[in-house]
Amino acid sequence: MKTKNNLLIMGSLLLTISASQGLIAQENIPFTKAVQTQKYLEPTRVYEEQNKISAQKLKRLEKKTGKKPNILIMIVDDMGYGDPGVYGGGNMIGAPTPHIDSIAKNGLLLTSTYSQPTCTPTRAAMMTGRFPARSGLTRPILTGESPTVNPWADEVTAASLLSKNGYITALSGKWHLGEQDGYWPHQVGYDEYFGILSVSSEFTQGMVERQYPDMVYNPERMAVLNKLSHRAITAGKKGGKLETVQAIKTLDELAEIDQDVAKFSEQFIRKAVKENKPFYLVHSFIKVHNDNYPAKAFKGKSPAKFPYKDSVIEVDDIVGRLTGLLKELKIDDNTFIFFTSDNGANEDLWPDSGYQPFKGGKGTTWEGGVRVPGIAYWPGMIKAGKQSDGLFDLMDLFNTSLALAGVEKQISPDRYIDGLDQTSFLLADDGKSNREAVFMYSEKTFMALRWEEYKIHMKVFDVKRPMSNLDEATILNVGMSPWIYNLYMDPKEQASTGHRFFEWGIGTAVGLTREHADTYKDFPMKDIGLGMAGK
Ligand code: CA
Repeated sequence: MKTKNNLLIMGSLLLTISASQGLIAQENIPFTKAVQTQKYLEPTRVYEEQNKISAQKLKRLEKKTGKKPNILIMIVDDMGYGDPGVYGGGNMIGAPTPHIDSIAKNGLLLTSTYSQPTCTPTRAAMMTGRFPARSGLTRPILTGESPTVNPWADEVTAASLLSKNGYITALSGKWHLGEQDGYWPHQVGYDEYFGILSVSSEFTQGMVERQYPDMVYNPERMAVLNKLSHRAITAGKKGGKLETVQAIKTLDELAEIDQDVAKFSEQFIRKAVKENKPFYLVHSFIKVHNDNYPAKAFKGKSPAKFPYKDSVIEVDDIVGRLTGLLKELKIDDNTFIFFTSDNGANEDLWPDSGYQPFKGGKGTTWEGGVRVPGIAYWPGMIKAGKQSDGLFDLMDLFNTSLALAGVEKQISPDRYIDGLDQTSFLLADDGKSNREAVFMYSEKTFMALRWEEYKIHMKVFDVKRPMSNLDEATILNVGMSPWIYNLYMDPKEQASTGHRFFEWGIGTAVGLTREHADTYKDFPMKDIGLGMAGK
């Protein structure tokens, strides 16, 4: 239990404060509101009135439509918090996003949505409702790597539970949760899969001479690379094999993948309507992860003209296409949409990266790495123009999706679920977040937590060279006091106020951290062999 030990060592001062109070139960942590209803469920803040309102809304809708609601999750790869216009980007940074802005203005704009620091962990958490430390998917599986244990052998995805309960489910686009047999989306709960199993850069590193000449001009290495990964658009259906739809050999072909994926999503939605089944669709963009090559129709079309910006407007256009289709099919009032990004902008790749008004970027647990856009849109069900700074963790989409389908009770008690049902937060007009705290990790190392407007770092990322968050950073222990930032006053986390302004809350932060660490006693971490050498 390495992490547990890390937590206990993190600051002797803090533990002295809390140790005198004995073992802290949730109700004994000062200033907190959450209660734990089951041993295997994350403590939740309960607001009876908003629960009632949201349950009534759902009941009324089901009576009207005769069906459970559709669920469409749109997740962009590596989009920065500040990229969409409604988050301060858009026109100001040379890439207007009218469609994303429109769903935010006509829905709920969340300003405190959190991901994990990189692609794979976020996707694993969102699909299982569990911390990557528990599922084992703590970092991206890299070219040719084979974990020693298949994490999917005992994980349960939201898609799997929904598929068993009358939904038709699909993963459209990027997977990045394992390429081998046994790891494919249609083997872990999705009825259908169409997209790529890896990530954009897995393709470009064998294509772009200027960036990767040591690979591209080396036939021996290229032969190995081609064998190691599926450099193709692939597809599959539950119970079936993996099919190669189209080998991706050129940058022109790569540039069009998001268009192909959008077409699949459109067909899938039409099919669900035809079959009269509720759908659960994870539309997972390949863009705007490096290396960006926009589709031909978007090349040079953004005011900024850079490939990243053209890719942002391509993503925005697809958001418009999918939301437009729901309207055309007259199912927009019965479809819950959540739009987000899987981690913060990847500053290391600038200028092929996004914008955020925070410190750090992808790979770190500074706000720039983990705070992402989060928009919930559902005409008639979510009040237009609503905004909230309530905490939302992308793993909450697991519980929330199951709750919308009315099957949240089917979650097995044999595993700890870190996600929360946030249905009432999203649906009630003045709904409050059910989440007490967001916990942040780098792989299996506990780093920080967000509680109310405070960010408390128990360990920090020390970035050695500006904008080298992944390539030249180390993790440091903090001293006597955690590093603490009031994010309302210091959203860029520039000057820790530590014990000076937050002495009253340190006991709370320690209590929440300890309670979280304690969950690993009965529900331990899983090791699938992804530890880096020496770790
Ligand atoms: Ca990503």
